[in-house]
Amino acid sequence: MTAYRLIDWQQPGYVEMPVPQPGPGQVRVRVGGVGLCHSDILFLDSPAGVLPYDLPFTLGHETAGWIDAVGDGVTGIATDTAVAVACMSPCGQCRQCLRGADNYCVDSWHGRGFGMDGGLASFVVVGAGQVVPLGDLDPRVVAPLTDAGATSYHAVKRTLPKLAADSVVAVIGVGGLGGYAVQWLRILTSARIVAVEARPERLEAARALGADDVIEAGDGLSRRLREAIGPQGADAVYDFVGTDSTMNAAIRNAAVLGSVAIVGQGFGSYHLTWGGIAHDVDVFVPQGATIAELGEVVDLAKSGEVIVEVEQFGFDDAPTAYSRLREGTLNGRAVVLPPG
Ligand code: NAD
Ligand code: ZN
Repeated sequence: MTAYRLIDWQQPGYVEMPVPQPGPGQVRVRVGGVGLCHSDILFLDSPAGVLPYDLPFTLGHETAGWIDAVGDGVTGIATDTAVAVACMSPCGQCRQCLRGADNYCVDSWHGRGFGMDGGLASFVVVGAGQVVPLGDLDPRVVAPLTDAGATSYHAVKRTLPKLAADSVVAVIGVGGLGGYAVQWLRILTSARIVAVEARPERLEAARALGADDVIEAGDGLSRRLREAIGPQGADAVYDFVGTDSTMNAAIRNAAVLGSVAIVGQGFGSYHLTWGGIAHDVDVFVPQGATIAELGEVVDLAKSGEVIVEVEQFGFDDAPTAYSRLREGTLNGRAVVLPPG
């Protein structure tokens, strides 16, 4: 089979590889679609010595497809079942896995498509417990639910106990992850949703996805965000950009007892001072989602209430799709279709 791999640092390319065989407890998935994530840009651009991975590995961590073969001991999952593949490959035995936080398995730096072989190939082998059946959902469309959908869901879900009927929330960066965050908030809460975006076309998309108010990123963001939120501040702010400016706007606009999720890997910082944050605000920097949360996301998508925005690309066009992601010219998540 052909795989699109990170061959050396800053050197992705197509490589011929043997079709992987599922071992005991594993399944082989014939890949239908692979969503491209902004995190991939970090993997593609990092020079040697930055990320803790051995090369090469196959890129692509938002994978969905069909069960193609099962290894010894695997029961209860039939071939041709459509499945979403979890990004992480948790051990199931460490302290975090046992407490249900398998997205923080001891080695959460590694996952499929980052340090391990991912989905940008005809086939990928994964643990049988790391796939979620999709029912009638099309793997060539819903692959981005596995990270863009699930990671944003994890962030929103953690804040739900602190939201009330009259809450105001803010989502900064309404791209792949942020677009789903707006939707989880629309579906799961009655909060008024304020969205912040840098690209005018995504401001419009944010409204279509469920934002009540939209404001453009840029100068004076923190002040303009407060005007849109109202003087009490936001009960939750989700930052899918993570630069100095967005982290400042996020943390400064959180209400007393509110939450701030810094999800974007923009390598920003915020200098915390007395008075620079409201009382009892929880700031957290989440990563990924549990497999159970991926299951909840798939169930929500099955309900038909979730808009899955995708732009599909042939397998040979993976480099073009990555360029479009980098340029910020995609209308919805890029999904690459390997030849399965
Ligand atoms: P994306 O490119 O699809 O979306 C980012 C959006 O932010 C774009 O619409 C862009 O126009 C907008 N934007 C850029 N600068 C902005 C600014 N200053 N203010 C407002 N909006 C701005 O990216 P994505 O795939 O959704 O990923 C978003 C971030 O989340 C990335 O940093 C990615 O690395 C990170 N990420 C984190 C995790 C995690 O587990 N923590 C998982 C996946 C992705
Ligand atoms: Zn990702």
